[in-house]
Amino acid sequence: MPVNLLDFDTAGLAAWLESRGEKPYRARQLMRWVHRAGVAELDGMTDLPKSLRATLAGEVVVQAPAVTRDSIATDGTRKWLLSVGTGNGIETVFIPETARGTLCVSSQVGCALECAFCSTGRQGFNRNLSAAEIIGQLWWANRALGADLAAGKRPITNVVMMGMGEPLANFDNVVTAMRVMLDDHGYGLSRRRVTLSTSGMVPWMDRLREACPVSLAVSLHAPNDALRDRLVPINQKWPLRELLAACRRYIDGAASAPDAGDLDDDPVPAGLAAKWQRAGSPRDFVTFEYVMLRGVNDTLAHARELVDLVGDLPCKFNLIPFNPFPDSGFERSHPEAIVDFQGELLSAGFVATVRKTRGDDIDGACGQLAGQVQDRSQRRLRREPMEDTRA
Ligand code: SAH
Ligand code: SF4
Repeated sequence: MPVNLLDFDTAGLAAWLESRGEKPYRARQLMRWVHRAGVAELDGMTDLPKSLRATLAGEVVVQAPAVTRDSIATDGTRKWLLSVGTGNGIETVFIPETARGTLCVSSQVGCALECAFCSTGRQGFNRNLSAAEIIGQLWWANRALGADLAAGKRPITNVVMMGMGEPLANFDNVVTAMRVMLDDHGYGLSRRRVTLSTSGMVPWMDRLREACPVSLAVSLHAPNDALRDRLVPINQKWPLRELLAACRRYIDGAASAPDAGDLDDDPVPAGLAAKWQRAGSPRDFVTFEYVMLRGVNDTLAHARELVDLVGDLPCKFNLIPFNPFPDSGFERSHPEAIVDFQGELLSAGFVATVRKTRGDDIDGACGQLAGQVQDRSQRRLRREPMEDTRA
């Protein structure tokens, strides 16, 4: 079986080459051809010695998952369904904006964590994606969008690990893929422009800080354990107190991590409380995602409880209007409820943004990615209807 070059970060490829009696520095050349130039054939890698190309021929491939559907929404959001074998498919979404382009990348086929309001979670879980299948989403999207990284043509400026799956539950492969995203011989993205979103797998948050600190988003969604236990069941294992302590450790540790540093970083979000701007790095805070569910977690009382909960933890809030899917059992909060909730956070001195819903007509928004999942999980948790807490 040939090895897939997309499965390696530079260090891994150097070790593999060395084990075959080749010069490890060739890894950097190969990485540049594959990722920066988007070349899949050895013949196209013109500065590699012919003898090396001949040796590697038949032993290596560059293989991203095959695209089986390509949809473009009226707002320009683009969604690809990628085949990952045995009837399984994952989704990748490109969100173009004026000053940046964001790729939302999947990490697993489905998800085992069963958050009550998430379409991926509802589908069940099949398997982890390989590193090649994860970085292959970026590799493929760059090609499809006509990128030329060497010439500075970069349609994708940001990556968010917010597609299907819980990235920290597929730790090693996600870290390998993110290292390629950050590597100058790969995609050369700044740590500030690569964001990992987790539902709160506490021990792996600590490992991430050590292995590959990137911007961290945490799916909070509730201001107390009773409600979070039901919305995000992993909370039963790692409750809020432990989760918030892990967030603090992450910020303290990650703030000192060196950055590969690109010249074109995102500015610090306007209005971020000055006391939290250390060296102007947006990595000095955690982003809390909070899905707005009508009558479930969206009252002013919830907002106040949230303010008390986070205390002086450096953070900002991203409120996500719930994206509906069939039989979800939830509704999106009223627009006025979202504005009021945001107002409560703002007046307590926090930065709080409301996420724009993109790709509505192709089901391309957060929590709507469904792909094709042959569920192999033993569903453990029973879903109970949420009561309306406003009553
Ligand atoms: N598994 C990771 C990352 C993928 S989900 C996590 O849970 O953080 C990305 C974000 O979308 C998470 O904050 C998730 O809670 C949120 N989300 C899930 N379903 C949603 C829905 N139906 N509407 C809006 N946001 C949703
Ligand atoms: Fe999994 Fe994230 Fe969906 Fe929860 S919200 S089920 S962790 S993908």
